[in-house]
Amino acid sequence: MMTPVTTFAGRTVAVFGLGRSGLATARALLAGGAAVVAGDDTAPSREAAAAGGLAVKDLAAADWSCFAALVLAPGVPLTHPAPHWTVKKARAAGVEVIGDIELFCRERAASAPDAPFVAITGTNGKSTTTALLAHILRQAGRDAQMGGNIGTAILELEPPAAHRIHVIEMSSFQIELTPSLAPSIGVLLNISPDHLDRHGTMEHYAALKARLVERARRAVVGQDDHWSRDVAERLRRAGGAVELVSARAPVPQGWYALGSELFADAPSVGPLGGFADLAGVGALRGRHNIQNALAASACALGLGLSAGEVRAALRTFPGLSHRLEEIGRHGRTLFINDSKATNADSTATALTAFEGDVFWILGGRAKEGGISDLAPLFARITRAYLIGEASETFAATLSGKVAFERCGTLPVALARAARDAAASTAAEPVVLLSPACASYDQYPNFEVRGDHFRALVAALPGIKLRRDDGR
Ligand code: ADP
Repeated sequence: MMTPVTTFAGRTVAVFGLGRSGLATARALLAGGAAVVAGDDTAPSREAAAAGGLAVKDLAAADWSCFAALVLAPGVPLTHPAPHWTVKKARAAGVEVIGDIELFCRERAASAPDAPFVAITGTNGKSTTTALLAHILRQAGRDAQMGGNIGTAILELEPPAAHRIHVIEMSSFQIELTPSLAPSIGVLLNISPDHLDRHGTMEHYAALKARLVERARRAVVGQDDHWSRDVAERLRRAGGAVELVSARAPVPQGWYALGSELFADAPSVGPLGGFADLAGVGALRGRHNIQNALAASACALGLGLSAGEVRAALRTFPGLSHRLEEIGRHGRTLFINDSKATNADSTATALTAFEGDVFWILGGRAKEGGISDLAPLFARITRAYLIGEASETFAATLSGKVAFERCGTLPVALARAARDAAASTAAEPVVLLSPACASYDQYPNFEVRGDHFRALVAALPGIKLRRDDGR
């Protein structure tokens, strides 16, 4: 599977950053008839690319006047904290700097301008919304190509076509590298401070996020934070087609929820009333997932799916790993893996999704501010189990407010939490791994930490794993 990039045929393109998307970019450009000069700052990446047959050169010594463009990997700084040296070289030579999604957009404009293209961004919820929309479309029998910032590089997907829907997650870095971004549907979920080291100011970050919806044929914009509300208001004043999404309150001409029930009264679909209910949907727990489900539904219904198709597919979404992932049940106890929660904000989202009886496993390498901001949610916690470097700092915060014990490692914490949960009288005790910390003191990354948790839970005698439910 690949999307050949034909818009640079006969010209030479520099590709810098030879990770997965960089390699896919080089192959797609070659397949479309361009010449490619590839580079990377690290030797192993250069060697892997050369072994794969790419022309790897020292771009520092290259003649930049012969390049038609520099395609940059999204991890490479374009502006902050300082432009990467390749960006300076490109600018000095008058060479445009773009990303792989820009190549896709130009290919779409040239070969299939009406091909459905949904682009999704936001500070939080991008991956969930993208995966959920792709799931809904596929359940309804549509050809949905999912990728971008999630899973597969965009140029590794099938080419744009009228019957094929591209569902693409975009980070701010990718938006910055996509000047001609004009999706058929643009989704902006929310905006809150994040990655400011890479974006300078909040204003710059918000302006980048806004670009995704500014030239969208249909814009779907969250209303639950003031930055996103401002974006929607500006679009509306400029006469754009904006549909509002709120998980908090009914919005005119938009998508909203009453309790767990989803409602729509939007220009693209007319008044729909309550079209779906998320009660009991384990993969979409919590208010934040109502926002994600509303946005995905807005896209799916706008693309012509029926309310029945959307309703059914919402119930079968398997969810993403490490994000409030339901691992299984043991008797009355529910086991949840939220290893992706590497800061207090994400853990707040997780704790908010459960009303009480939480046996909370937390710790690792603490972020600035620790868990002090979580104090309003402490009443939901029956007992806390501390692991990793942050144990003493967190013990001080919890002291006198929440019962806790120091467990050192995840296996010890899980064993004790499972024991205490089983002994409790709660109707549905929840053993929740939501560390509010980076994993690097004990694990290479949050995925390995979450996988370890899943394996430990799976080894509990008598556990009923969710995957065994046949869902
Ligand atoms: P992203 O791809 O933007 O990082 P994910 O879908 O992977 O987002 O979710 C990551 C975490 O962000 C979740 O575990 C949850 O804590 C939080 N989250 C998800 N959706 C939302 C949302 N709509 N609003 C606020 N927080 C959210």
